[in-house]
Amino acid sequence: MLGDNRPGGQMKTRVTQMLGIEHPIVQGGMQWVGRAELTSAVSNAGALGILTALTQPTPEALSAEIARCREMTDKPFAVNLTILPTIKPVPYGEYVDAIVSSGIRIVETAGRNPEPWMPLFKSAGITVIHKCTSIRHALKAQSLGCDMVSVDGFECAGHPGEDDVTNLILLPLAARRLSIPFLASGGFADGRGLAAALAMGADGINMGTRFLVTKEAPIHERVKQKMVEASELDTALIFRTLRNTSRVFRNSVAEQVLAIEAQPGETQFEDIAPMVKGVRGRELFESGDLDHGVWSAGMVIGLIDDIPTCKELVERIVAEAEQIIRERLTNLL
Ligand code: NAD
Repeated sequence: MLGDNRPGGQMKTRVTQMLGIEHPIVQGGMQWVGRAELTSAVSNAGALGILTALTQPTPEALSAEIARCREMTDKPFAVNLTILPTIKPVPYGEYVDAIVSSGIRIVETAGRNPEPWMPLFKSAGITVIHKCTSIRHALKAQSLGCDMVSVDGFECAGHPGEDDVTNLILLPLAARRLSIPFLASGGFADGRGLAAALAMGADGINMGTRFLVTKEAPIHERVKQKMVEASELDTALIFRTLRNTSRVFRNSVAEQVLAIEAQPGETQFEDIAPMVKGVRGRELFESGDLDHGVWSAGMVIGLIDDIPTCKELVERIVAEAEQIIRERLTNLL
């Protein structure tokens, strides 16, 4: 029984209002995974799907993917642009032009200060979410005019930064210091997480790894199954020695990279590049050969034990969070 006669699943936050979505849940920008299939499924479920710009080989291919996604959903979706070290130089300016000229309304930037692109995004009326792993970067993003930040705790998949601060500290700090809305990112997979994030001051959650293990994620079934079987202990932090730390699934390739990084002297990226290059990750996702390369995975794999559709997942998380707030928490008072 809902106390104020509102139907379930109508949690309103600054995130749902600003992004024009039904539920306060945003998909993480995932290399090779953030394609139209997953993005449209997440958006059709009432959350925000995100296409990953660099998954597309060229800016023209990104424009085509945006058009393809539009045919698959009439709901809002965003584009993620990650700026981190890459093996091949990326024409970021041309990707930005493709995003803006495609009429995208929401962009998630990550990896580096988005300042160079802000005037272009803002003049096009784009809502900018910046993903950051520290409060100082979140404050900087706010001062640059970002509309929202996604605060990425140490638990997260991919690049957690070098500070190693978990969300139990980062999120309340963000609530104290930021005036713009923020998403809680890293470690979220269920309604308990959503309720906790809202309690800590976030306006919603961002989930990458959890959406990776859904029916619509365009990756091999074996990868999904492996993540279902995995525990919270099955991730590894590679590239620590290069100050480009990345949390990946702990497979034999990740173990080999760690062994090379543990050798005395400075690690040379060239010594590990053949094992970790992104294209091997893409091939792994396509073939299901789990030791072909590395793939990003968060500690949250310990909380993942099924492969639902995006709609089932989003509805379950929202219903569970609502129940916790209305029943467990309210009854404590
Ligand atoms: P890639 O093939 O160019 O590089 C593979 C990995 O090596 C990436 O993690 C990259 O950051 C790292 N790397 C590349 N050159 C490096 C150097 N000189 N020193 C240290 N590390 C180096 O990258 P990709 O797989 O094609 O991915 C494209 C972009 O997406 C990269 O910027 C990558 O970091 C980013 N990415 C982000 C996440 C995440 O945070 N969730 C996950 C995967 C990829």
